[in-house]
Amino acid sequence: MFLIAYPRGVATYDLAALICHHGTAGSGHYTAYCLNYLNDQWYEFDDQYVTAVDAEIVRNCEAYVLFYRKCGDEMIKKRQCAVELMKRSQNEGLLKFHISKQWVNKFNNFAEPGPISNSDFLCIHGGVPPQKATFAEELCTIIPQAVWEYLHDTFSGGPPCTHLYICPICQAEQNNLNEKRKRELEEFTALNAAFQRLENPSVVYAIGMNWFKIWEIFVCKNGEVPGPIDNSAICYVKNNQAVLKQGSDFCSMSKEMYQYLHNIYGGGPDIILQPTAKVSSQSSTTSNPGQSKSLSTVSNHAQVHTSSKMNLSSHSHTLPCSNSSKSLCDPEHGKNPTLTENTEISSPDQNVPILKHTKI
Ligand SMILES: [Zn+2]
Repeated sequence: MFLIAYPRGVATYDLAALICHHGTAGSGHYTAYCLNYLNDQWYEFDDQYVTAVDAEIVRNCEAYVLFYRKCGDEMIKKRQCAVELMKRSQNEGLLKFHISKQWVNKFNNFAEPGPISNSDFLCIHGGVPPQKATFAEELCTIIPQAVWEYLHDTFSGGPPCTHLYICPICQAEQNNLNEKRKRELEEFTALNAAFQRLENPSVVYAIGMNWFKIWEIFVCKNGEVPGPIDNSAICYVKNNQAVLKQGSDFCSMSKEMYQYLHNIYGGGPDIILQPTAKVSSQSSTTSNPGQSKSLSTVSNHAQVHTSSKMNLSSHSHTLPCSNSSKSLCDPEHGKNPTLTENTEISSPDQNVPILKHTKI
């Protein structure tokens, strides 16, 4: 028997797949060949067509990108050992263990699967995160105690899991977060309703739409908790005061609304818009219910409250007028006829959309 002696530490790799390019440098078409290890058959992938092909065709094609799979005799032995253990210990041992399907896939295919990682279905406390409760069982598979011990001794990692339960610590955090979302949405909506009732607010604040959208997703769509308010992209500093940049994407709100958010999240800088008494003759004063949009669907174009008495600079988004907490979230709110879209207005000093507070 003839054995090739590889130097220690030298790994070997098997060709697993390749991409071919057909055509010229300017245009063309890509196809792929991939090996199925289960039946040792090569397949050609050409758009929606998958065809079994002879290895000779693969050998003679003009490859563009080659994919190799690291070979490891050690892993073959470990897989065989695990399979044997599965057969023998199916009805042994008091405990059954849950293990990540994703890691098992690595174990079945990789030369170096790395430590067991159950963190795709377990939280750091060892329970199931509440948001994964409905599908956690699909993320893991059950193995006998002996197989777990073998895998854990061989690859380390974890954490071990013998029972799927919703983590009470994460659940409490989730409940607190939901309360925070509800409270902030309700209070902000009430403040916005009060703002809409003001005919001539003396002070109006600007807040960057980018930050506001993150907060909106947090309260309306269970998004992540926003960081501090960030108005840095929509203003510059002049005489120690933040001045709104022309053309910025922002929304205007009352002092109370801004301070409510600022007290919770901090950040800034504070941008105070000083309304003037001017009314642009180019302003749109026609409310069109068909074009109205809620804040959740506003575009980058200027949003204008109709029949305004104030001039404010830049591309402003006004907030929806509603006494309902649904106002920020509900697509149906788009039927609320308080906003008119795509209305650009110029003023003597800057290009300004006009803000109007319509009583509803
Ligand atoms: Zn937890």
